This record gives sequence, structure tokens and C-alpha cells, in this order.
Amino acid sequence: MKKYIVLFIIMSSVMLTSCQVNIGESTFYVHWLVIAIPVFILLLLVGLPLGRIKYYCPNCKKTFYTSWIKCVFSVHINNERALKCPHCKKISMCYPSNNQENKK
Ligand SMILES: [Zn+2]
Repeated sequence: MKKYIVLFIIMSSVMLTSCQVNIGESTFYVHWLVIAIPVFILLLLVGLPLGRIKYYCPNCKKTFYTSWIKCVFSVHINNERALKCPHCKKISMCYPSNNQENKK
């Protein structure tokens, strides 16, 4: 996953040098890092707590941890996330294991 992030940063730095921002009738050219760095910081702030959560797989009844970047970009409804289980290799709606203990 790290090599994809590095490749994305290199490709975007080659392809994107500035972004055109229109506010009213005036036009500004903003460097792409001014937009990309706050977005990346927001992804980190949202994703790092999600990466520490232990998820429960409803197929094999096992718990697992997953990376924060998979949590951020996964489809989710409330706390349930569509994650690929490392044990049974199936994508299913996994929920945090603490919620499973509370439901029983
Ligand atoms: Zn599983």
C-alpha cells in the first residue's frame, strides 16, 4: 500500500502543478499542495482512530485488525464496514467487536 501512495504523490506532482480556483469573477492559481495537504491531514485524522478498531467477521466469527486506509475508503453504514476478512478472504459487512459483545 505504501508504494501506491508514493506512486500517487509522484504522479500527481508531475501531472498537477497548479489548480485554477474561481471565486466570483476572479481567478486564482493555487499550488496543488495547498489543496492536497489539508485533505491528507483530514484523512489521517479520520482514519487513524478507525485503524485501531478490531472488527468482527460475521462469516467466520473471528476478529481482525485492518489498515486505516482501507477503513477510510471502505463502504460503511453507521459502524459496519465492508471489509475483506484476512481469515476467510470474503468481503462482508464487519462491525466493531465491542458492538458484537454488547448485542449478545
Ligand atoms: Zn472471516
